[in-house]
Amino acid sequence: MYRIDVHVHPVLVSEILEKYPGLLEKVREIFYIGTAPQPIEVIFKQMEIANIDKVVLLPIDCTTRFGVELPPVDAVMKLVEKYPERLLGFTSIDPMRADAIEALKEQVKRYEVKGIKLNPALQGFNPLDKRVLDFLRKCAELELPVLVHTGHVWMKRDSLEHVNPLVWDKIATLVSDLKIVLAHMGFPWLWETFTVLTRHENVYADISNVYTGSPREHLSYILTEALPKRIVERFLYNKIVFGSDYPRIEINKMAEALGSLDIDAQVKDRIFGLNVGKLIRL
Ligand SMILES: [Zn+2]
Repeated sequence: MYRIDVHVHPVLVSEILEKYPGLLEKVREIFYIGTAPQPIEVIFKQMEIANIDKVVLLPIDCTTRFGVELPPVDAVMKLVEKYPERLLGFTSIDPMRADAIEALKEQVKRYEVKGIKLNPALQGFNPLDKRVLDFLRKCAELELPVLVHTGHVWMKRDSLEHVNPLVWDKIATLVSDLKIVLAHMGFPWLWETFTVLTRHENVYADISNVYTGSPREHLSYILTEALPKRIVERFLYNKIVFGSDYPRIEINKMAEALGSLDIDAQVKDRIFGLNVGKLIRL
């Protein structure tokens, strides 16, 4: 079994930033992050410490709203090609682009695309818009899982309107063969996430990012308190996957936090890897 981090943002990888002058300022402004650029080696080091075999890189295509990809999908996919043992590449296409479906087909032809990353708040779209639904149907047809931001949004510039996990109940009904990962467990809408997860076979959630203290405090809060441990062990054991949200959170810190969590060891193994196996073709 591979241990996988499904939520890594390659926004501050220095090998990529060096090739795109001006991108760092865009990352700071749009993605709102102050951490210094780091070589890809930092990700590998953190993986090594955490005993994580593979990480999923998630670019975000914000062309409609901000005229930029964070970072360019091509650069991310080339990095994945360089380190195929350790990196898995999701693509990101702004579903409001007129050529969204064409661009998706093109990406899939050119690269080893494992899934799609979407963020309705940052990309500024309504997941129930007809154009988006058509795009999602295409993702299902191509057997590509969609990892979507759900939950809290800090920037007032971005809307909360389309990031409630309940939005995806309707989509999971309309496009029932689409595999969906609700990022961040939809925090703080944890019971909404629970409801959607337990209603749909193809919907999963990742535990990435930390909203309530340290990684340990946060995971303990969301997986044993806010959602009681018995609920997680009984109903969500096959629905949750591991993610850090690097570079916002260090991969090894998040993995240590999950490792030390007071829940059934088999459930932790599932979160670290077994559940991802049902989602991503490895
Ligand atoms: Zn993220």
